[in-house]
Amino acid sequence: MNKLFVNLCVAGAGMAMLASCQSTANKENVMTTQPESITDYANYPTYDGEDLEMVADASGCKFRLWSPMADSVAVKIYENGVGGEALSSHGMVADKSNGTWSVELKGNYMGKFYAFQVMIDGRWLDETPGVWAKAVGVNGVRAAIIDMKDTNPDGWDMDKGPALAHNTDAVIYEMHHRDFSVHKNSGITNKGKFIAMLENGTLSLNGEKTGIDHLKELGVTHVHILPSYDYNSVDETQLPSNKYNWGYDPINYNVPEGSYSTNPACPVSRIKEMKMMIQALHKAGIGVILDVVYNHTGVTQGSNFELTAPGYYYRHREDGSFSDASGCGNETASDRQQMRSFMVNSVKYWMNEYHIDGFRFDLMAIHDIETMNAIAEAANAINPDVIIYGEGWTCSDSPLPVERRALKEHVSKMPGIAVFSDDIRDAVKGHYSNAADPGFASGKPGNEETVKLGIVGATAHPQIDFSKCNNSKFGYATHPVQVVNYVSCHDDLCLTDKLSKSMPGTTVEERVAVAKLAQTIVFTSQGIPFMFAGEEIFRDKKGVHNSYNSPDSINAIDWNQKKEYRDLFDYYKGIINIRKLHPAFRMTTAEDVAKNLVFDEVNEPNVISYSLKNNANGDSWNEIKVIFNGATKANVVEIPEGEWTIVVKDGKADEAGLGTTNGGKLEVAARTALILARVN
Ligand code: CA
Repeated sequence: MNKLFVNLCVAGAGMAMLASCQSTANKENVMTTQPESITDYANYPTYDGEDLEMVADASGCKFRLWSPMADSVAVKIYENGVGGEALSSHGMVADKSNGTWSVELKGNYMGKFYAFQVMIDGRWLDETPGVWAKAVGVNGVRAAIIDMKDTNPDGWDMDKGPALAHNTDAVIYEMHHRDFSVHKNSGITNKGKFIAMLENGTLSLNGEKTGIDHLKELGVTHVHILPSYDYNSVDETQLPSNKYNWGYDPINYNVPEGSYSTNPACPVSRIKEMKMMIQALHKAGIGVILDVVYNHTGVTQGSNFELTAPGYYYRHREDGSFSDASGCGNETASDRQQMRSFMVNSVKYWMNEYHIDGFRFDLMAIHDIETMNAIAEAANAINPDVIIYGEGWTCSDSPLPVERRALKEHVSKMPGIAVFSDDIRDAVKGHYSNAADPGFASGKPGNEETVKLGIVGATAHPQIDFSKCNNSKFGYATHPVQVVNYVSCHDDLCLTDKLSKSMPGTTVEERVAVAKLAQTIVFTSQGIPFMFAGEEIFRDKKGVHNSYNSPDSINAIDWNQKKEYRDLFDYYKGIINIRKLHPAFRMTTAEDVAKNLVFDEVNEPNVISYSLKNNANGDSWNEIKVIFNGATKANVVEIPEGEWTIVVKDGKADEAGLGTTNGGKLEVAARTALILARVN
């Protein structure tokens, strides 16, 4: 979710949640569970064991729920995931030293379901699957007792994500399961499902590769999947009704979303099918990054956090009401030990059980720096190639002191973490919240210095006058591995729509040229490049900027466009290939960038020219000359004499070369990039 975009947060993902929290609100309960002071929470005993809340084998089940403020706790066993009377109910015993309640049941409970019930001040709260359910029934209402080994696809033990020497080597593709496969032209059978990724050889109606073959053809290294944990807004019992949601409304953080499985009522299906998807991507050499939304829950009073340990997991205002830095009705409290431990263990669980290769943290600045560092440390201990990044902002204000927030401006205090660069995003294509505002690539002057900030991976480069930058006034990244460069994502207008609205009176060809230029800036900049699925075939969303619950007619990628925009696709493929073959675009330290990336003096607006020198980062090219012309006219640049190979020119990109030149005065066409390389 986007900063300052209250419209998105409140009218967007939050709308359904706010409605449901009103319907389940119990004011009396809420008021009686507020602490007398913040220090009460800090004094609660905590429990960091990874055996919360249920561990089972064929001989029995051990339950352990953390709820230090409870008067009493029970666990109920059910035959089904929803409906019916409990088969049995079992009181649990408190361990005051760590705040947990436990009970052990003998016998084989495999295939059964369970729910906890907590008594606070003499009142039983509603039943809950707890916060650590690892398998659930339909709609995540009750937790399921299964043998996790039954969820492993064949060969799972051998499954492994791609190696990533440096995070700047990643090329990230942000996709939604349903957008990607649901269109009637996709040629994919399992539309909107995890297992869509298992389908090889799929073609659009007009014969272009789709699905996983498309990803392989494009050359991306990682897919970043929109929220895929169990969320609230899609009724898993009504899947044919064409419901759509981005999924920023978590219920069960440690279970996949049921609507992406072929059978949401079967607890094994969603888990196994998500693992099959991950395995298929890994076999294709593609890593999987999970979008995680620990910063808020879909509902507030009825959430699993509130039903297990009321008050504890959320921040509050001084009057005891829920604070709301997420814009969605609540914000969680990562600064409290048990919430921090929950987040760390949840990330570890997704890595160990699902082989997830990276995480994207929604509204990361709601979390505190200490927690994010603990997560990075734990994740790196499991896989040193893990990639972690987040939105370094909040939606609105938080009780968490600014100096503790995991903000973009604080990324130097989080060495294992990267942040999205809203600097390059808005400078290249225009401001995110002002549809009509163009940017550097679409012809608006005045953004050059901010684009340069993006080019150097937001590091402290000596040639940049940071006082002229639009957003951040300093190079906030210690090293370029700490920044994610992009021009569009699921939030706000997608690139195609943004260009339509900010370039009135232009032709499609002109807008495609700008799209190419914009992405060339992203893919050649230092840092981690990130793109939104479907941009490579000029996917649009009919001008809908906040499509969080829009129908498929808005969100689905029409794969027949791949033939129509084949030239654009080939350009993306070409520029990604150039990046992957040339480490000069992927430097890992600020020192290397400062030494090897040299800007040329340019006096024309909307023109940037620079060189990557000294066989930077071990590149086979001694010098690479990169020129961006965002102006609506051609501009002439002076290139030093030498034996240059042209690799990008006039909307074509080819690492093997498009021709040669000896330098001198060269014309760069309007709205294009020119990239030249020389070996000596
Ligand atoms: Ca769900």
